[in-house]
Amino acid sequence: MLKIVKFPDSVLRENLPEFDFSNPITDPKQLEKDMLELMYQNDGIGLAANQVGIKTRVFVMGHSANPEAGQAFFNPMIVSNTETLADMEEGCLSFPGIYVKIKRPTAIKARWQNSAGEWEEDDFDGYNCKCFLHELDHLEGITYQDRVSTLKWALAVKKTKKRNR
Ligand SMILES: [Zn+2]
Repeated sequence: MLKIVKFPDSVLRENLPEFDFSNPITDPKQLEKDMLELMYQNDGIGLAANQVGIKTRVFVMGHSANPEAGQAFFNPMIVSNTETLADMEEGCLSFPGIYVKIKRPTAIKARWQNSAGEWEEDDFDGYNCKCFLHELDHLEGITYQDRVSTLKWALAVKKTKKRNR
């Protein structure tokens, strides 16, 4: 059973190695299924391998309203991105309740391997783009906290505490 790893677990700081389809550390199709299931259970739209304690380059994205459309992205990379940035609110299952606006490119072209090991390429914009970049950061050991100033983060944390009171 997979479990969500919360900050400040050090696995969230690891730059993960590539998923090797010729010598897989775990069954990629089963991993995709398990990670999507856990993400939906927690109302997430994205979940990276190190967030469940697994050290390899894969994340899942999807929405519980349309679970069939959810998928895993193995060994993802950015092919190109826009110069323009958008400031959109992000949350993270490893930082429950903390929402903060992060500036990221408005659109990207990306490549990855699906759970059968086949390469795919597509364009992403809006929330899918933001989510893809947030999850890709996780695979490099970067969290959204690293993308904002200390002050902005402190304000977001304060707002969370108020909401929970
Ligand atoms: Zn996250």
